[in-house]
Amino acid sequence: MKKRLFTPGPTPIPESVMLAMAEPIIHHRNPEFVEILTSVNENLKYLFQTKNPVLTLTSSGTGAMEASVANLLSPGDKAIFVNLGKFGERWGQIMKAYGVEPVEVKIEWGTAPTAELILQTLKNNPTTKAVFLTHSETSTGVFTDIKSIAAAVHEKYDIAVVVDGITSVGAHEMRFDEWGLDVIVTGSQKGLMIPPGLAFAAVSERAQKMMETSKLPKYYFSFKKALKSHADNDTPYTPAITLVIGLEKGLRMIREETVEHVWQHHKMLSEAVRNGCKAIGLELFGSPASHAVTAVNVPQGVEYSKFNKILKQKYGITTAGGQDHLKGKIFRVSHLGYYDEVDIVGAVAALEWTLHDLNFKFEPGSGVTAVQKTFAEYAAKTADESTASRQGREKAEALK
Ligand SMILES: *Cc1c(COP(=O)(O)O)cnc(C)c1O
Repeated sequence: MKKRLFTPGPTPIPESVMLAMAEPIIHHRNPEFVEILTSVNENLKYLFQTKNPVLTLTSSGTGAMEASVANLLSPGDKAIFVNLGKFGERWGQIMKAYGVEPVEVKIEWGTAPTAELILQTLKNNPTTKAVFLTHSETSTGVFTDIKSIAAAVHEKYDIAVVVDGITSVGAHEMRFDEWGLDVIVTGSQKGLMIPPGLAFAAVSERAQKMMETSKLPKYYFSFKKALKSHADNDTPYTPAITLVIGLEKGLRMIREETVEHVWQHHKMLSEAVRNGCKAIGLELFGSPASHAVTAVNVPQGVEYSKFNKILKQKYGITTAGGQDHLKGKIFRVSHLGYYDEVDIVGAVAALEWTLHDLNFKFEPGSGVTAVQKTFAEYAAKTADESTASRQGREKAEALK
């Protein structure tokens, strides 16, 4: 049986990336590796749409989240975070671990915060040093409009906007400089199409200034040390050489396709999955929807554990379940990274077969038809896409 991952990390890895990582190891101080790191640093700037440095850390995504707190803040500082799901909640847990005073904005899981809500919280907590957001909340499949929130915050306050972009970078439009973000982090096993083990953080000038006065403890994850090495296309410690070699290939693929097209592709795939699920008669969980992962309510009369077992064991498809109080209530289908139209048709077909096996009543083929219809509609707009791609390429040139 062919096994297929439809999980929001790890995500599938392109063959060319796997082959590059299978080559004999090289030394990280050799010119050959410096060249690779130079290309990686350039292409990360393109992916993040920034002229600021994008640091590569050796850890999973959470390491970059932790480093963002530790490098910007000082003991007793106040910082806002939004508890909109498992990952938003994590910002607060990291703050507590570091002795930062968290201001929790708790909203119903499956919803997203508005700029008004953040502004109101800032008004009540005027000494706040930073706002921590989650661009794509993977646990609920919900998207947050960080562009509007960052603009609203910076209009009134000279504070940092720090974003968990772990499943949004490479899936959603994200323009770090234009949107005035201060830090955005991601991880390698999500939109970047390589195995777990690397984390990334783009850092603005404001963030770099905050690092100068930050008094929280840090050593291995010191942004200042990482920035110093970054300027020479070097790393302070031994990097995960093999992963960086794979990353170089993955980033090249994104650059050749153009980041605008990659965003558009994720939008299309997510729309197709949503339309497919709705046509089967399934109810989507949460909104607005992330383009990286679709959360779906487990339908009445269907037991999640049975559903998951059939999908996995009979059809080879691994999806993700719900976390905490959403356990058994939702399932999540990821379309982040290396997926194409055929993958999505297959995933929705397997969903149909599984639901059919469980005697769920629906019109067989309705989901797959809705998926294909969505793709056909996008194909009809190809002329627009090629314009978007060209503009993307021009913007990429300008960023060089
Ligand atoms: C996966 C994920 C994380 C955690 O990343 P790790 O690589 O597992 O440390 C954090 N935030 C979001 C939104 C994620 O999807």
